[in-house]
Amino acid sequence: MQALEANIIEWGVIFWNNFERQFGRYFIAAFLTIALVWVLKRTAWKSRKIQNRDASWRDIRREIFSSIQSNIVYLIITVIMIVGMQIGIFQRVEDSLGLGMDLLLLTGMIFAHDAYFYWTHRAMHHPKLYKHFHRHHHKSVTPTPFAAYSFAPPEALLNALFIPLWQLFIATPATVLISFLIIQIIRNTTQHAGLELHPSWWLKNPISRFISTTTHHDMHHSGGFHYNYGFYFTFWDRLMGTEHPKYHQRFHKVVGNELARD
Ligand SMILES: [Zn+2]
Ligand SMILES: [Zn+2]
Repeated sequence: MQALEANIIEWGVIFWNNFERQFGRYFIAAFLTIALVWVLKRTAWKSRKIQNRDASWRDIRREIFSSIQSNIVYLIITVIMIVGMQIGIFQRVEDSLGLGMDLLLLTGMIFAHDAYFYWTHRAMHHPKLYKHFHRHHHKSVTPTPFAAYSFAPPEALLNALFIPLWQLFIATPATVLISFLIIQIIRNTTQHAGLELHPSWWLKNPISRFISTTTHHDMHHSGGFHYNYGFYFTFWDRLMGTEHPKYHQRFHKVVGNELARD
């Protein structure tokens, strides 16, 4: 009994120690993206607003509330992972494996997460799963950066499982996991920014064209429901024929390129 009590206290401490970082990452990334958009809207880039519609306060409240809920789900998974490391289910890697290896692991994680995101996202659009998993995220038709974690708990759980699954097979240092989480949340809030943040040449460059844009994900929210499932990259969508047929046209129109015809 005493052992159980000690364990519960220890899990509480782990939860609390990670609380600040978990919520901090979400709110800092969301507020920085909002601040960036606010500044850009006072420049010539104001024409890059993707939709005419604005998110309502009700939308923003819902996005923040459900993101708080998702952050708690992520924290619970973090506690399980840390306890799992202590009892040897997951390997604990304290130190860097060298810059080259760390960067390789980080790149591997990003590509693996992109595939995980694409396929779980597509699965959640299946009518049998949609209602319970993903409908909540799509209540944001005009998303704001706060929508980054605006999920129903089952979707938050599915997203959170990526890191434990990865760590189960590939022992990765904590610094790499944290770097991954930072890249992921920045990518996530900027994808929901509502204003196109990528340079106008983005889709003309042979490399950057495979990295998705704010318009790419915005179109998924605003009617292009069965297109643009990808997160970091566009190649899964291109490979599986789910890239929105008007994606390039819409992007060029938003950034004011001449070839835009609509
Ligand atoms: Zn979706
Ligand atoms: Zn979204």
